[in-house]
Amino acid sequence: MKQSLVRQINAGFSITLVLVLINGVISYRNIFRLVDNERLVRQSHQVIAVLEDTLSTLKDAETGQRGYLLTGQDQYLEPYNSAITRVSEQVQTLKQLKTRTTQPQQIEVLEQAITAKLTELNQTIQLRRTGKFDEALRIVRSDRGKRIMDNIRTQIAVLERQETDQLQQRTAESQQHLSSALFTFTLITGTSLILLALLAELVRRNEAQRQQAERSLREREERLQTFVKYAPASIAMFNETMHYLAVSQRWIEDYHPGSIESVLGKSHYDLFPNQPARWRAAHQRGLAGHSEKCDEDRYVLLDGSEQFLRWEVQPWQDNSARVKGILIAVEDITQQKRIEVALRESEQQFKVTFNQAAVGIAQVAPNGTWLRVNQKLCEIVGYRYEELLACTFQDITHPADLDLDLSYMRQMIAGEIQTYSIEKRYIRKDRSIVWINLTVALVRDSDGQPKYFISVIEDIDHRKRLEAERQQAELALRQSEERFRSAMEFSGIGTWDWNLLTEQVIWNDNSFRLLGYEPHGCEPNYQTWRNRVHPDDIEATEQAIQSAISTRSFYFSDFRVVWDDDSVHWISARGRAVYNDTEQPIRLLGVMLNITERKAAEIALQQLNATLEQRIEDRTTRLTEINQELEAFTYSVSHDLRAPLRIMQGFAQALEEDYGTHLDDLAHTYIQSISDSAVQMGTLIDDLLSYSRLSRTQINLQPTELNAVVDAALRQLQREIEERHAVVQIQSPLPSVIANRPILIQVVTNLISNALKFVEPSNQPAIIIAAQVEKNSVSLTIEDNGIGIAPEYQDRIFGVFERLHGIETFPGTGIGLAIVRKGIDRMGGQVGVESQLGHGSRFWIVLPLASNQIDSPHDSNSHSLN
Ligand code: ADP
Repeated sequence: MKQSLVRQINAGFSITLVLVLINGVISYRNIFRLVDNERLVRQSHQVIAVLEDTLSTLKDAETGQRGYLLTGQDQYLEPYNSAITRVSEQVQTLKQLKTRTTQPQQIEVLEQAITAKLTELNQTIQLRRTGKFDEALRIVRSDRGKRIMDNIRTQIAVLERQETDQLQQRTAESQQHLSSALFTFTLITGTSLILLALLAELVRRNEAQRQQAERSLREREERLQTFVKYAPASIAMFNETMHYLAVSQRWIEDYHPGSIESVLGKSHYDLFPNQPARWRAAHQRGLAGHSEKCDEDRYVLLDGSEQFLRWEVQPWQDNSARVKGILIAVEDITQQKRIEVALRESEQQFKVTFNQAAVGIAQVAPNGTWLRVNQKLCEIVGYRYEELLACTFQDITHPADLDLDLSYMRQMIAGEIQTYSIEKRYIRKDRSIVWINLTVALVRDSDGQPKYFISVIEDIDHRKRLEAERQQAELALRQSEERFRSAMEFSGIGTWDWNLLTEQVIWNDNSFRLLGYEPHGCEPNYQTWRNRVHPDDIEATEQAIQSAISTRSFYFSDFRVVWDDDSVHWISARGRAVYNDTEQPIRLLGVMLNITERKAAEIALQQLNATLEQRIEDRTTRLTEINQELEAFTYSVSHDLRAPLRIMQGFAQALEEDYGTHLDDLAHTYIQSISDSAVQMGTLIDDLLSYSRLSRTQINLQPTELNAVVDAALRQLQREIEERHAVVQIQSPLPSVIANRPILIQVVTNLISNALKFVEPSNQPAIIIAAQVEKNSVSLTIEDNGIGIAPEYQDRIFGVFERLHGIETFPGTGIGLAIVRKGIDRMGGQVGVESQLGHGSRFWIVLPLASNQIDSPHDSNSHSLN
């Protein structure tokens, strides 16, 4: 709007100027023409005047000539002389005036005529002077002079006419030029005036606008000043020389350069002479039209404290885009910086806390994706960090717990609840279940939209299991209590709880019954109980109670109670006192049982015991008699069996010796078989007798040296050992045991004998005899490299007649090991075998260690006997 107005004004001025110029040019030209015409008019008037003067002068000269001619006096020549001078000047004037006319020849012709006239005059004068008056008169009387004069008059008249014509023409022209000039001038001036009037209006409007603009500019400036002044930041506006144009209150408060009014117009560098060079350079760059900014500038104040500033330098320009100064905005971010540092530290702490927390912590997106999890959570669910982040909490939540969790989440997103805490199950990576306590809070963004959940996950698996176990235990306890109560009821056990302070007693139904009352048929208290106790037992029972309370021992007493029907019943009561913090007995709890039947049995037993000794003695005597009879029988049987055997052996031998030469090989074999069978039978009888004796004979146990026992056994087997080239290794010295020496020799002999016997004939027997002391016992082992025993037979072989081989393969009676077991049994020991078929056997016997051997460890030298 303003621009167009200015343009209009400018255009108006230009048009007016052009019009004025045109007007000037046209007027000038018209005036010039007018003036020129006027000059020509004047010239024409001059020419006419000069022509008339010339004619007049010539007439004067002619008059002077006539006078002289007539008088001869020189005084008459005066007009002539002056006429000559004048006419010459006039002719010159005419020439000059007419040089630019088209009639120069006419002037020359006139001049020639004038010259001719003057010459004629001069001639006449000269002739008069010389006295030739007549001649002069004759000349005068000739009409030559008149002709010349007429000619001059004609020419002057022509010239005058011409000039008059020109004069008229020029006057007309002048008139025309004048009117034209007037018209043009009037027109253009009028137009110009109108334009000027318009321009004046435009200028007035422009002025109004300018004033308006100035007013608004002032207002704007004031607003700007106010804006800058109250801007919540340190802002200052400078001119090109860094003098303050505007400044904010905040700037004044921050940097204390004085009041706003005192600062305006002052040089920044005068107020702050210690400005760092980098800032001055930034100002200069700003003044050169560049924007500068620095987000964090550390500035050390004079007092040594440091400040962090964020500043911006911005050039400002006038309308013509010329930089007129700079704007500086400074923000003190020291506090912010401190907060940032504190925030960073706090974030660091948070990170550390997050990562090292003893509970699982996670950030979970509203859709359930794990955004961030700590190490503990990974441990709880058994996933690696990346694996966990690749799934959602729904993926690892136990299906049975998911709905509850999701419903809480929805309530939280809807703003119905702020947090929730539930116990739920996760499915670990290894598919095992882990119980956790989950506490969730929701973090929203500034728009209140859900951003993420913070979940705290506590592993309560152990607690849950304990709880389950406790519940199980409680259930079991309840059931057990129930069972116990039922058992009490059914077993007839009465329970009582006697409050020693109030004398009140709590009985169960059985207690009532045991004392001869209907359940809850009376008020249970001490007196009610005491009333039932048999008078003879009261004192002892009460003493037992007092003694148990005072000595803090179990209360125990049997007493009789007398029911209303005078029947007497035995009660056995047991109890224990309960004490308070001050050691004062407050309760006595216990049970009671009807022992009437037991008491009757005890009495019967006592009577029985009294006759028992006699009966045992009688029985023992009887048994001894039977044993003796049995031994006599055994002896006679064995003796009677031996007699035919000896006869068989004797006859077989006689047959061999007397008829041996008559008999063939088969007969010899038969005889040998009879003989062998007899020997075998003899051995069998011997073994049976040994076995039988072992059961019957009284045996004495005493410390027995195993070395001596083994030596004795080996001596007995000397022949077999030599025959089989057996190697017997004894890890001596062997300790002493508590045993019956002969029986032990028999046991060891049997075992070594078997070790020699049950070896493949192709193998050389190798026997190791060793002993190990274990606490108060000795384990004697006899190890061989024989055929071994299958596990299923290892127990059987200790029975009588148990044999695993035919007599042809390995001879024997099957009684050896039975004797071993019986003997060891009788000596209070144990026997056994460890063996594997084909890999030898290790028979062991365990006997008590002789006391003098205890704590005296023996060396384990070994020697072998071959
Ligand atoms: P026998 O008179 O046959 O030796 P035992 O009672 O001594 O009778 O042994 C019973 C059976 O136990 C033997 O027939 C044999 O089969 C087996 N036996 C005993 N000792 C050994 C051993 N050291 N190695 C292998 N087998 C054995």
